[in-house]
Amino acid sequence: MNVHYMTTSRSNPRFFIFSQVFECVERTDNIFELKPNWQEKVQISAWVEFWSREGYVLLEQKWHKLHPSYEDQIGKATPEESTYWQELWEQHSLDINAHFWRIFKCAFENYENDFRQGLGADINISNVDKQLAELNINAEISQNSLTTNENSDKLDERQQLMDLGLPTSFGSLAKRRRRSKAQHISESESDSENMANHTDDALHGVQSRVIKKKKKRPNLDIIPEFMRDDGMMHRYWVKRFSLFSRFDEGVRLDRESWFSVTPEKIAVQTARRLACDIIVDAFCGCGGNAIQFAMTCSRVIAIDIDADKLEMAKHNATIYGVAHKIEFIHADFLQFASSTNLRPDVVFLSPPWGGPNYKKRSNFNIETSLLPVGASELMQHARRLTDNIGFFLPRNSLSPQVIALAGVGQQCEVEYNYLDTRLVAITSYYGYLIQQDSTAADSDS
Ligand code: ADP
Repeated sequence: MNVHYMTTSRSNPRFFIFSQVFECVERTDNIFELKPNWQEKVQISAWVEFWSREGYVLLEQKWHKLHPSYEDQIGKATPEESTYWQELWEQHSLDINAHFWRIFKCAFENYENDFRQGLGADINISNVDKQLAELNINAEISQNSLTTNENSDKLDERQQLMDLGLPTSFGSLAKRRRRSKAQHISESESDSENMANHTDDALHGVQSRVIKKKKKRPNLDIIPEFMRDDGMMHRYWVKRFSLFSRFDEGVRLDRESWFSVTPEKIAVQTARRLACDIIVDAFCGCGGNAIQFAMTCSRVIAIDIDADKLEMAKHNATIYGVAHKIEFIHADFLQFASSTNLRPDVVFLSPPWGGPNYKKRSNFNIETSLLPVGASELMQHARRLTDNIGFFLPRNSLSPQVIALAGVGQQCEVEYNYLDTRLVAITSYYGYLIQQDSTAADSDS
């Protein structure tokens, strides 16, 4: 299996979303069926979604970089010069489209692999108890093989930050390849099929080579003290704007939050999907999601069991000018859900994933490895408040378990979030949050 990694911009990765709606249906065999041609449907809707969200901005940004004098010149251009600019813009649009299509194709190829992996082996979605029993055994085996020394923890952290779409050593190679390939872009490549063929060629072997980058030395004066002596963290400090675009205005994160906060692009997308009147952010942490919810919802109830995290969240929300829309509640969500009379429109669940070791397993068991309780129990608590639930889960979560949370006869939408070509996490939606028109495949199981 080829796994390609490319970055478009180290500090500002592109965000691709691949989404499918599933139905949870009882069946007696172990087969998880997908509708024919599901790949094509998912790919088309994901590309259309990406290009309509980011395409024009990308075209404009690159155009002004390439032609800084355009604004001055177009005002006094002769008709011939105007035609020249027009043709140049059309060619530019084709080139940029082709460029991002290649990266998108690479992300999609990874999605297909990641999705298959997420199905797990020998899983019977209709028999949840048996399924969980099998998975418990798998989880124990992989747990035993984990190493726990300090070095391996550091590597985990580094890996976790890389998975957030932060730097990869493949960036410069990918850039050089794209530069050399750009010389060969012909007009015919505006046709998406031709571009698709070109992609495999352009990416061949990318995953097998590592290019050494020149070390970028950050300004040590502005790095938080706890990161200063940790050389490994310096390179991640440079990427802080992936997490909070307004980081330099004073965003506060503790060490743990560097690894767990939702990257802003994903938080923006989740907030777009969960837009409503009243939303509960059940595990708000330092506020990455709550801040974005405040932009799309009338009222946000942000809950966390850790008072320090809540303080950071409040401070960060002030920077974004949305603190007045968020009610910060210091509580255990499970107790809160059992005792409140509040009936929000939506509950968002982003519980702890049990530290960075989760990705050492090929599959993540959401029933045994999430904290403070398994996914089904957590859903039961959330459903006391509403059936409309968004669930932010590890990228290697077992898809059958995620779908089973919908309940037999119900649907669920599973969204795979990629920053550049790296799968960062999964968001699943239940209740009225499912977007029917994104239905591309479903399981008959
Ligand atoms: P991750 O494993 O994704 O890194 P975190 O450790 O950041 O997750 O956990 C997310 C947040 O959930 C943290 O801020 C933590 O304080 C909070 N949290 C943990 N348990 C509860 C709970 N029972 N109720 C509310 N918040 C909780």
